[in-house]
Amino acid sequence: MFALMTLSEIYRQYLLELNKIYSGNEAAEITNIAFDDVAGIKRADVIKNPSMPIEDSLLQALTTVLSRLQKSEPIQHITGLAWFCGLSFKVSTSVLIPRPETEELVQLASAFISNKNSAVLDIGSGSGCIPIALKVKHPATKITGIDISDEALQIAKQNAELNKCDIHFFKNNFLDEAAWLSLGNFDVIISNPPYIPETDKNLLDKNVLQFEPHLALFEPAGQPYIFYKKIARFGQTHLFAGGKIFVEIHEDFGKVVFEIFLAADYEVKLIKDMFGKERFVVAGRRGFQV
Ligand code: GLN
Repeated sequence: MFALMTLSEIYRQYLLELNKIYSGNEAAEITNIAFDDVAGIKRADVIKNPSMPIEDSLLQALTTVLSRLQKSEPIQHITGLAWFCGLSFKVSTSVLIPRPETEELVQLASAFISNKNSAVLDIGSGSGCIPIALKVKHPATKITGIDISDEALQIAKQNAELNKCDIHFFKNNFLDEAAWLSLGNFDVIISNPPYIPETDKNLLDKNVLQFEPHLALFEPAGQPYIFYKKIARFGQTHLFAGGKIFVEIHEDFGKVVFEIFLAADYEVKLIKDMFGKERFVVAGRRGFQV
C-alpha cells in the first residue's frame, strides 16, 4: 500500500486526521512543518507534483509522525525543533514551545534597544528564545537569562551555542528576593512568565496540557500575578533610569497587570498582540515616556 501513495494523497490524509483535533489553520500549519522538517518536502512541492509517488522510507517516516500527532503530541516535540524570529531552537517537554505572540514581545524590546550597548535581563528563559533572538539582532548587548529549571537552562545553553551567541544563563529563583542580590542593574528587563491560573487548567488544549511544562505555564497556586508583582518591585532597584520593562501577559489580565505597575510607580502602556488581545505591558520609571 505504501508504494502506491502520492504526495497529495499523504498530504490530504494528514489534513484529514489533524483536522479532527486542530483548527483548519493549525492542521495545515502542522502538516507543512511535518512535511518540511521530516521529509524535506515543501508545500510548493506538493502543489507542483501532486501525483508524484512518495518514497517508501519517507512515507514510513511521515506515517509514524502522523500517528504521534494524532495523540496530540506537538510537532516541535517530534522533530525536537521550533522556529522563532527566523531562528531554530531545540525544544523538549522541559521548555515552552516558543509562541508567535512572544515574537512580538521581542520586537517591542528590540525597537527600544536599537543599537545601544544595553544590559538585558530575561526572567524565566525556558528554551532561551527571547534572549537569543535579542542577542542575534543586537550583538552589542550584554544579556543575562535566568530560570529556576536546570533542564531548561541546559536547553537554553545549547540553543545559545546553536545560534552562536554569547549569553550568560544561570539558575536563579526569581520569586525569592534574596536571589536578587546576584543580579545587577539593567536597561531592559523582559519576561514571559507563567501566567495561566491553575484554575484554567481544564481550558487548555491537550497538546499544551499534556506535553508542555506546567512550571512554565501556570502561576504558582494561590499567588496570582506574583511574577508581575515581583518584577515591578525588582525594577524599582534594578532598572536603570530610562530603562524599560517588557512583559507578556494573559489576555484577560491586562488591566490588573497595568495597575500592578502603576501602583509600583511606573509609567505604563498596555499593548495588544496581532490577534487584538491585550498581551504585553511595557513599563518605565516615572517621568520617562513609555
Ligand atoms: N501563551 C502561553 C499559552 O497560551 C502561555 C505562556 C505563559 O504562561 N507564559 O499556552
